[in-house]
This record gives sequence, C-alpha cells and structure tokens, in this order.
Amino acid sequence: MKIYPLGVGGAFTKTNYHNNYIMQLDEKYLLIDAGTTLRNSLSEAGFNYIDIDYVFISHLHFDHVGGLEEMVMQRFWYFENGQHSPIKTTIIVHEKLLSPLKKLLSNGLENQGRTVDDFCNFILLNDGKDFKIGEYTFSVFETTNAHVEGLLSFGFKIIWDAQNLVFTGDIKHMQMVNILRHINEQTVAIFQDVSFTTNGVHSNLQEVLGYYPLNLYEKLYAMHYNDNVEDYMEQIKEAKIQIVRRQEILEF
Ligand SMILES: [Zn+2]
Ligand SMILES: [Zn+2]
Repeated sequence: MKIYPLGVGGAFTKTNYHNNYIMQLDEKYLLIDAGTTLRNSLSEAGFNYIDIDYVFISHLHFDHVGGLEEMVMQRFWYFENGQHSPIKTTIIVHEKLLSPLKKLLSNGLENQGRTVDDFCNFILLNDGKDFKIGEYTFSVFETTNAHVEGLLSFGFKIIWDAQNLVFTGDIKHMQMVNILRHINEQTVAIFQDVSFTTNGVHSNLQEVLGYYPLNLYEKLYAMHYNDNVEDYMEQIKEAKIQIVRRQEILEF
C-alpha cells in the first residue's frame, strides 16, 4: 500500500493543509476525507478529482468534508471530447453518517431536479460489515463522543497480507472507545491525531504517549497536528514516534 499525505494539519492550519490522504490499494485510489483545502492539496500531490475511485468520510467537520461538494460536482460535470461524461463519486461511510452527509451535500447538489444520488453512490459500512478493495479489507469503527461529545465520528482499519493499519481519525479520548482493541502484533502503523496544545477535542502528545504502551511508539504516526510542529520535533524524536509529513509518500 502506498499512502500520499495530501495534508497533515489540523482544521486551522495555514501551512500543512487538512488531514486528508490518498491510499493506493492495488490499482485503486481511496481518498481519506475531503477538507476545504482539498482543491489545492490534491493537485499539488499530482492528482485530479477524476483519479479517485472511493472517498471515505470520517465525520462532518469542514476539514474532513468541506471540499467534498466541489469534488463531486467537478466529477459530475466532467467533459470528454466536448461531451458531458458524468463520473459518479463513490463514498464509503458508516451507515449512521449517511443521512447527515446526504443532508449536507443536498444543499449544494440538489438543483434542476437532481438529487444527491444522481451524483454519488454510497457504500454503507457498520461495525460488522466491511468492504474489500482488491486484497485489502476496509473496516470502520465508531469513535462518536471520543472526538466531540454528541458528534458522529469514525476511524478505520485496513487489513491485508497478515498486516494491518489503524487510523484513529480525529480523537481526544482513545480509552473511551478502546482504540487498543483494534491493534495487534500484525499492526504496522497507527495513524493518530496528535495536538501540541491541550484542548477539548484532540489528544495532545502527552495524552497519546500516556495511552499507548511503549512497545507501540514506533508504530505511531502523528497526524492532524498544529503548524508549530517544529517546536515539538525534539519531543517527538525523543519519544521515537513517527510523524507524517505532507507529500512524503509512505509505503507499507
Ligand atoms: Zn479535523
Ligand atoms: Zn474533527
């Protein structure tokens, strides 16, 4: 698997773009979240909207979904040889998020008699239902209340070839949703929300280091961080955790 970090910053980043990724799974491109900075981050990473085969949406904050409407619309209004050749967008989402997501998209997409379903296909997952992309199995886990109280949110796990990767999404309280239960000796990477300021909706570096056992530190990949990341590089190096950098392609 190849991972292209389009952006690695938090919601208010000015320098690192929103925490959105493209995962190349065999020949398929899976976009992880579509924040408002996607319109720049995608092209700067060398991709076009039409390259994307699937989009996963973790929750409905603007840094994860604010760029989705434009992407969906641009794909629908794709022209080939002067002919309107609409490309529907396939969105992977937990079934609980379907209705609020469609409601959000409907504001911009529903006009001239079209509905959201004219633009999008949805692949609905739940705690027991996963999705296969080639040899990769994509499954979601719920983190509702562990990021923001009362807000639906989800992380995911990809399993392949006796390996797996866990992606927390935005999270504050790892213990509340028992993130460790998704991790085993076959886990090669844990993409983890790491903030450098103490706040009510994201876990800070101390909380992350306090939650995970020492033997997992080398598998932790800090993401969704503040722009003052350089001030914390000493601490990150000392803890021997990894950090995801924008446009530094990762391979597992
Ligand atoms: Zn976020
Ligand atoms: Zn969020």
